Amino acid sequence: MYQEVHTENIVARAHAKEIAELLHRFARHAQDEGGAPHEAFCDEVLPNFGEDVMVLAPTEDGDYAYVHYGREIARYVGGSRLGERISSMTPQVARFTAACYDQALSDGKPAYTVHRSLKTVRVCLWERLVMPTTARNGERFLVVFSRPLQFHEELLTTVLETSPSGIVALRAMRDDQGDIIRTLIITANQRAAVMAGRGDENLHDTEARESLPFLADAMIWRRCLYAIELRRSDMIETSFSHDGKVTWLQIAIAPLGDGLVMTMTDVSELMVANQTLQSRAATLALEIGRERATRRALSQEIGQREEREQELRRLAETDPLTALLNRRSFIEKANAAIATCDASGDDTSLIIVDLDHFKSVNDSHGHAAGDAVIRAFADLLLGTVRSDSDLVGRFGGEEFAVFLPRANAATARRMAQRMQHTLETKRLPVSETLALQVSASFGIATRQKGENFTAFIERADRALYRAKNDGRDCIRLAEPALVTTAAAAA
Ligand code: GH3
Ligand code: MG
Ligand code: MG
Repeated sequence: MYQEVHTENIVARAHAKEIAELLHRFARHAQDEGGAPHEAFCDEVLPNFGEDVMVLAPTEDGDYAYVHYGREIARYVGGSRLGERISSMTPQVARFTAACYDQALSDGKPAYTVHRSLKTVRVCLWERLVMPTTARNGERFLVVFSRPLQFHEELLTTVLETSPSGIVALRAMRDDQGDIIRTLIITANQRAAVMAGRGDENLHDTEARESLPFLADAMIWRRCLYAIELRRSDMIETSFSHDGKVTWLQIAIAPLGDGLVMTMTDVSELMVANQTLQSRAATLALEIGRERATRRALSQEIGQREEREQELRRLAETDPLTALLNRRSFIEKANAAIATCDASGDDTSLIIVDLDHFKSVNDSHGHAAGDAVIRAFADLLLGTVRSDSDLVGRFGGEEFAVFLPRANAATARRMAQRMQHTLETKRLPVSETLALQVSASFGIATRQKGENFTAFIERADRALYRAKNDGRDCIRLAEPALVTTAAAAA
């Protein structure tokens, strides 16, 4: 419980102006340790201050009984306590009060106290001036001036005047039908006047719509009326120009009695900052958009380049007439496949095929027909091989090579026989009306351990040469390589 007790500087500490007057009178009457003479002091004090004064008499059991209880005190406390004792108060308050009274009686001097009331609802702090007296018959008394501190009102005034917000309270004036005809400002702090562009004016008792520029906005005015009539809070954001300066206000509206309270916050700086931020965000979004577009264009460009490079690579690797691998890429890929088969210990074989008497095809049917036969023969080779691993290349003219990984001589021979058989049973289409029967000669080599690709091809070539010599339209297997034996011997 909050409490203060003072016997010095009482006038300076007191809030109620009556306290100075009472002290003065007490001093005039006081004679000795007994304080003031009771009868004379009461005769003087009670007529003027009686409503705020209580008189107490100490009881034999150490308590105090009220023998006078001021009306004003009764009003705050909610009833007179006349005849009761102070021990009937809240124990904490009773203890504090009894101690103060005891002290005042023994000192014979006035005491000033402040304490928090624990019972009354509206008032939180009370001030008291405790004055000891002695009656003619020797009985002791205490004359106590008691007044609630006007704390709330002071607090409200202080809060109003120190608030960074503009605060205005309006009261509605109504006609006989109950319609609002005027709205008067009953309270406004200085800040509100400044915000309204009327810094040095007192807005009290003026018509709100004339004093507050933003109320000229019909929509805002309607919302204020709704707040009064429907007793509903609201929040409004508005701007107005004064002396060429735009002010942005955020106004919280709350109903109060038959009127309302407006709390206005100046958010102009916030709005400017917000606008700056928004425009920065817009610029940034623009830049991000541009960068995205650039990146998209770039990635498209990269994609196109990759496609072109792939196409170029494909063109560089393939023979334009037949779309088969050309000699260079055939050798490259075959070498890579050989490395894999070497690692797993698998055989690899190579077939070199050359069409027989091709010159006579050109001579008899023309070069274009010759091209058609070359293309058709390429298709035949592709249709015969194991498509997932075997390589087919055009070595030049009407000479082709087929590389067979994981294939020994017997497998390669079977493959060549199948090609030969197809040529025997099928004419190669040249045009819609012409198809030609051709034959080919085959040379087969199966790679020997450590044999390089050139030697490998040469052996297949020599086998092909033998096939040509042996009358064409036949298959010949290459001789074993001498080089490898030499290498093995070394
Ligand atoms: P052989 O049985 O000994 O192989 O006889 P050949 O006539 O097939 O061989 P030769 O090397 O004498 O002739 C090959 C001919 O192939 C010569 C050339 O005009 C023709 N030739 C080469 N490349 C092409 C081509 O791309 N298109 C066409 N239509 N003819 C080609
Ligand atoms: Mg030929
Ligand atoms: Mg040839």
